Amino acid sequence: MAANGLQTVAAILVAAGAGERLGADVPKAFVHVAGRTLLEHAAARFVNHPRVRDVVVAVPAKYVADAGRHVPSASVVVGGATRQQSVAAGLAQIAEDVDAVLVHDVARAFVPVDVIDRVLAALDAGADGAVPVVAVTDTIRTYDPTTGELGGVVDRNQLRAMQTPQGFRRAALAEAHERGRSTQVTDDVALLEALGLSVAAVPGDERAFKITVPLDLALAEVVAAQSDAA
Ligand code: C5P
Repeated sequence: MAANGLQTVAAILVAAGAGERLGADVPKAFVHVAGRTLLEHAAARFVNHPRVRDVVVAVPAKYVADAGRHVPSASVVVGGATRQQSVAAGLAQIAEDVDAVLVHDVARAFVPVDVIDRVLAALDAGADGAVPVVAVTDTIRTYDPTTGELGGVVDRNQLRAMQTPQGFRRAALAEAHERGRSTQVTDDVALLEALGLSVAAVPGDERAFKITVPLDLALAEVVAAQSDAA
């Protein structure tokens, strides 16, 4: 049994986005890389994880049957109009006895299992939430999208990019979603922080990059070949 009573872990895999920036003729999760859909690549990491008991996948309404074929052991739900709504739809499907929930972007299909382990270890150690983070390599400036004017340089040593899976105590995530319904956020950590709960940063991994544009698919083929060979 894990510390802090976190015996039962479930994962919500959000895959209901259209993936328009990828320009494919199917939603991003159903694009093939190295012979398998991104959904299958992402799901394998959670379905086969010894600490993850249940997996819930949120997909567009038309793809429920396809998702069930690709990940037969998962429960499949219809996602929402935003990522936040897709997570909420998955959360509604989580069994009562689940203690901790991992929320993962299927678009980060090649997340190494070590990252999942680090997130769970932070929850085991007592955090309400945990998020994998990576350093930012570009020089970053603020920018006014209305005028096109550049602002100052932001010290990148003080910046980190948020990855997934993000892990939460189930009760904390449920309350954060309930209270944050009218707030628009792009990840669940933002909702948890609004409640004043503790979110731990753990080292992420470049291989957990988010597949967004066509060039990312070329990188995904390389990462898939490496992870199959490992
Ligand atoms: O749009 P973005 O790149 O932030 O999406 C991150 C993840 O959230 C993707 O895996 C995408 O499928 C999922 N998503 C979702 N429902 C939406 C929008 C995005 O499940 N309505």
